[in-house]
Amino acid sequence: MLFDVSCITREKLMETLRIYDMIQFIDFSRRMAKGNKNFIEVREIAHTGNFPVIAFFLTDFSVSTSDKQNVLFTAMHSGIEYSGANTLFRLIEILLDESDSSLNFLRKYQIVIAPVVNPYSYEIGGLENQYRTEFSCDPYSDPWSVDGIADPSLNVEAAAIQALIDEFRPELFIDCHGVFFKGQHMIENTGVSVHGMSRPHNEIFVNKINDASKEMGYHSEYLELRQKSLPVIPELAGRKYQTCSQKINACVYAYHNYHTLAMVMEIGFVESGLARLIRALELGLIKWDGEIMAGFPVNRVFGEGLEGLHPCSSVRDKRRLERVTLWNNMHNYSYAVLYPQIPGRETYALLHSKPTVPAYETVPEDSYLVYNPGIAPKLPDCPFSISFKIPFLNASIKKITVNGKNIPVNLWEWSKYDGFSLVFVKFPDGIDKETFVTVTYNFNTGASTD
Ligand SMILES: [Zn+2]
Repeated sequence: MLFDVSCITREKLMETLRIYDMIQFIDFSRRMAKGNKNFIEVREIAHTGNFPVIAFFLTDFSVSTSDKQNVLFTAMHSGIEYSGANTLFRLIEILLDESDSSLNFLRKYQIVIAPVVNPYSYEIGGLENQYRTEFSCDPYSDPWSVDGIADPSLNVEAAAIQALIDEFRPELFIDCHGVFFKGQHMIENTGVSVHGMSRPHNEIFVNKINDASKEMGYHSEYLELRQKSLPVIPELAGRKYQTCSQKINACVYAYHNYHTLAMVMEIGFVESGLARLIRALELGLIKWDGEIMAGFPVNRVFGEGLEGLHPCSSVRDKRRLERVTLWNNMHNYSYAVLYPQIPGRETYALLHSKPTVPAYETVPEDSYLVYNPGIAPKLPDCPFSISFKIPFLNASIKKITVNGKNIPVNLWEWSKYDGFSLVFVKFPDGIDKETFVTVTYNFNTGASTD
């Protein structure tokens, strides 16, 4: 005898992980909003016609936003990937628990959380609704290009997330995905999603946040340990090279436009997801190798070999604006490097035409400038810094010249890591003419004595 299952919903066939239905989620939102107005605002960022899309803005509102870093957490597939949403519900509660660590996060960050990006799929459920909204396609990847959402009036959910990315230009963006059913399991990871690779530009960051899971006894998969793991151009994507996503998603959009440290996270266990998200917040408070100040490692926006281009300001909102400006004009920068590169001296020039070596640069014999022109050559038109990686840990600076003139010590800083002495030369007023920067230094190849 056949059973007629047409009247049995999917949830009755298999119980889901959903802890709130939409009404309960709206109640949760109201409860959180009432909790402590010093630390949270709750806003409807879009409405589908039947459902609100709700975002939580968490920060210490008594502290100026000008010196905060911006963080965005979403669950673009919640939708029915309930473990992603559940993790973010719990994170909101933790950030409001008034513990020392949560209060510190709220002082240092503006954190925006959208736990239910696709309320239609979230409420109606069913695998057939995983990759669609009420009126359109999968908000995670279908409507995105690097220029933004294809049809914002139809894709209101994704357009609302794009508006958050455009407003906050976050330093960190993690999109939380996961599982649907009670008892379901999956391979957890950060930076590898169903569509393939969706990892950030700094893989060390991913490895460090995955450590938080592993310290608790959870597993974590690295992209490098998958058999098919070579990231390639889309033309080669296939079973030999399947790790390169063929779709642009919100993370790619944020990276492309704002040099955001953006990644997808697969969450099989809420506890593991929470540990990774909280570790990610902790990692934005330390100084990373290659950076001059504490913060997410997003500031080397352009670099080749020993030299890199960075923001200059130390105040976060100015630094963000400089990062985005430099990043979005990098294709136009024209620069030259003195070759061959030899110990004791580095010369880097920002130019708008093919250079000749100025007379004030007394260069070693047989040296020449290698010129890399931009598409429409221009000079950086905002404050910036140039970093020089001197490949000796124990180097000491003799002098730094800009267009042949020594610069004062307050216009450069340095740090050391991994065998490098990293020198930052600052241009707080930008530049309005071609600029040659030369660092001369003492070095020896022995171990550091400091
Ligand atoms: Zn997903």
